[in-house]
Amino acid sequence: MSTRVAIIGAGPSGLAQLRAFQSAHAKGAAMPDVVCFEKQADWGGMWNYTWRTGLDEHGEPVHGSMYRYLWSNGPKECLEFADYSFDEHFGRPISSYPPREVLWDYIQGRVKKAGVRDYIRFNTAVKQVTFDPVSRQFTLTAYDYANGRSTTDTFDFVIVASGHFSTPQVPAFAGFERFSGRILHAHDFREATEFQGKDLLIVGSSYSAEDIGSQCYKYGARSITSTYRTQPMGYTWPKGWEERPLLNRVEGDIAYFADGSSKRVDAIILCTGYQHHFAFLPDELALKTGNRLWPLGLYKGVIWEHNPQLIYLGMQDLWYSFNLFDAQAWFVRDYILGRIKLPEQSEMQADSAAWREQEEGLQSTASMYEFQGRYIKHLIEHTDYPSFDIDAVNQIFLKWKTDKKRDIMGYRDKSYRSVMTGTLAVPHHTRWLQALDDSMEEYLRETAGKGDVNALRQR
Ligand SMILES: Cc1cc2nc3c(=O)[nH]c(=O)nc-3n(C[C@H](O)[C@H](O)[C@H](O)COP(=O)(O)OP(=O)(O)OC[C@H]3O[C@@H](n4cnc5c(N)ncnc54)[C@H](O)[C@@H]3O)c2cc1C
Repeated sequence: MSTRVAIIGAGPSGLAQLRAFQSAHAKGAAMPDVVCFEKQADWGGMWNYTWRTGLDEHGEPVHGSMYRYLWSNGPKECLEFADYSFDEHFGRPISSYPPREVLWDYIQGRVKKAGVRDYIRFNTAVKQVTFDPVSRQFTLTAYDYANGRSTTDTFDFVIVASGHFSTPQVPAFAGFERFSGRILHAHDFREATEFQGKDLLIVGSSYSAEDIGSQCYKYGARSITSTYRTQPMGYTWPKGWEERPLLNRVEGDIAYFADGSSKRVDAIILCTGYQHHFAFLPDELALKTGNRLWPLGLYKGVIWEHNPQLIYLGMQDLWYSFNLFDAQAWFVRDYILGRIKLPEQSEMQADSAAWREQEEGLQSTASMYEFQGRYIKHLIEHTDYPSFDIDAVNQIFLKWKTDKKRDIMGYRDKSYRSVMTGTLAVPHHTRWLQALDDSMEEYLRETAGKGDVNALRQR
């Protein structure tokens, strides 16, 4: 009987896993019996936009945290697949910071070409996974909303690729219960124009704070006040945007900060991060970690050391993303296919501890993406994933940081060179700050006519 593998989630990580198995199969390896469970109606994970918040059409927690008008916040040259380039997908150079829909199209291009859609059960939410130490098998229970029935299957391996930017971390501040305006978490933010002409308070100083604040500024918020717990973001903000220390309390519509200052605000967005949350897993199988570069318990960042039949993809804090998931997926594939052998548990733990020690010693931002780059390099040395110039990608990250520092509202107008194809990105036809329409049609306009766009979509 062939090995049975469950993949939970058809986002970029789960799709990388399907593509990894398919690529080995195309070269003659046996294809395990794979089932990918996806609770949404379509693939792409976060990149598959939903207007919904709270619960979805089935009463499941909404997975999506992406919002309208979201453009890539890092250069696409840092996330490019090594086996499927932007050139191959779009047939011509595009800019370095595409909007969400364009990246979603790119993600889909590779898996359409690989023909892996039939492995996915859409509208099917995984509810429970248990492990029987005697049979050494998992029992996975899911609810198939398309057919209105519960399903139970057994698997030899379970790969958790359910993401970690969906379950919000929601702190409370004194006075919130009587605040007269809207309070929402970044997970529920969708439409920046809602805040046109408003004075907005953003709690947090990480990527969501920076990007949601920028969206709201771009679409006409009157003022943005962002608050930090430890350090300000420190960019040169445009007029109307200021940083204050931590929010202390709210009285009516007045926000008071740790330095004693205050500001009247219309709405509050909590950009306070997400939790690693796995409601379908029993305690002993659930990864418990903050958002960091080296969560403990995962050999090579993916294999659950206490039970190596359980695997996690994409659980690290992300500098790299799509090609990181690929490196992990190819490694996991070769482990499941028996090409990579695991050492004893103590050796796996020692290996993880050594990575963790390195992680804890990282001081600068540059050292963090270099660390993640080293990790990717290490993984792909073990597999046939196409090798690529990770040092050059680190250099792009470095340039990106400098460009942001120089102009936080203009860095998305910069262009970088692909390390996969050598192609230099072209500047977008409209500067990011003026580009209010983020649709794929608008993005690809000018150098391609409508017909061409449709042709490109079907790739
Ligand atoms: C606002 C925001 C902006 C971002 N911007 C960028 C960016 O510009 N560049 C970048 O590289 N990355 C960005 N990211 C990171 C992004 O999360 C990753 O690029 C990528 O989507 C992670 O892929 P994943 O497959 O691991 O997880 P996800 O994309 O989250 O996919 C997980 C999938 O699992 C499914 N799932 C979850 N639970 C279940 C269940 N119980 N049963 C069945 N299916 C389930 C979900 O429906 C989803 O399809 C951003 C994230 C957020 C939240």
